[in-house]
Amino acid sequence: MEKIQPSGTLSVNAKVLQKRQKGETVYHFAAGDPVLLNHPCITQSALKYIQKGESHYPLSEGIPELRELASQWLNATCKTNTSKNHVTITPGGKFAIYALLYTLLEPDDEVLFASPYWVSYPDVTKIAGGKPKIVSTTAESHWKLSPEHILKAVTKKTKVLLFNNACNPTGTLYTRQEVKAILDAAKEAGLFVVSDEVYSGLVHAGEFVSCGSFPEHESRVSLVQSCSKNFAMAGWRIGFAIASEEITKRLKALMTQTTSGCATATQWAAVGALEHYEEVNGYVKQAMQKRRDCFYDTFDKLFTKLERPQSGIYAFVPLTLFGKKGETTSIAFCERAIDEANVAIVPGLYFGSEGFVRFAFSDTEESIAQGLLALAKWASH
Ligand code: PLP
Repeated sequence: MEKIQPSGTLSVNAKVLQKRQKGETVYHFAAGDPVLLNHPCITQSALKYIQKGESHYPLSEGIPELRELASQWLNATCKTNTSKNHVTITPGGKFAIYALLYTLLEPDDEVLFASPYWVSYPDVTKIAGGKPKIVSTTAESHWKLSPEHILKAVTKKTKVLLFNNACNPTGTLYTRQEVKAILDAAKEAGLFVVSDEVYSGLVHAGEFVSCGSFPEHESRVSLVQSCSKNFAMAGWRIGFAIASEEITKRLKALMTQTTSGCATATQWAAVGALEHYEEVNGYVKQAMQKRRDCFYDTFDKLFTKLERPQSGIYAFVPLTLFGKKGETTSIAFCERAIDEANVAIVPGLYFGSEGFVRFAFSDTEESIAQGLLALAKWASH
């Protein structure tokens, strides 16, 4: 455990909360957590369950109603061909990644993923007993991982490709042809694929293509999903691992010996979201698109014109756009921004890419506009 670092984004989040407790106004661009009231379908479903007054141990793999609804949701929106027997309910997508890697890896097996990566990939890989094998991608190629990257990087020890589409922090979205080429390369290299698709419902331009929509690759692909982003339910902690029946059996054993399953009330909250997934995701997506427009329109005016990401709730921005203040490391820049301007941003280094910072545009439009103004004032001094 000495080698395990705490989550970078959650550390910045903790600093924001400390400052807010002292009564300071902090502009929060650090947490990818849609600041929205829960859609009523979610709260009503949870309340109905709570009012029944039952509070027994849940089935460790998840309540059957939610597993069934999750498979229907993914078959409808991601063109998967799955059923309840392939679904495990986990406390968030993060635990689903951990549980899948723990289930798949032998000690010191390598897990291949692209940088910039989601902050937790290296440490979750290590906790699961594996070794991160990181391939760098570039802004010029839209931060895309290619089949060549995979084939060049694999060694005898590489076991899993941890693929992220739509991508946090870059918003990169892969076409059907690109996803197929990646899956073909993974097959050629003998890799199992864990595909993290937690932003599947927050695509602003283009089509989301799931790794689970290729029947010829079904046996080597597992999916990670979550209610946190698509349904703005981060605090309810509900995620999903979609895998073969054999892996699902192993996940169930792991759940019985670790968490004993997710809280039943939060699973019923997720049932409410999935029973009305179009409406609930539509509500979140519309709000996030307005915030995206607010973020980019304001940023264009105060700094420079940026290319809009195709998906997600983040902007991955080069430090060079911030003049003299940007002539430093991403960690030093973000520390000064929160200490001196009360603007919380995440250093690119936490995502494996120095020279960049990540903004989340999931807070209210008012907070986004005021926060960028505070940053511009600070950067110009
Ligand atoms: N995967 C990616 C790419 C993420 O950005 C996140 C959260 O930020 C997660 C997984 C995990 O989310 P949760 O555990 O809230 O479902």
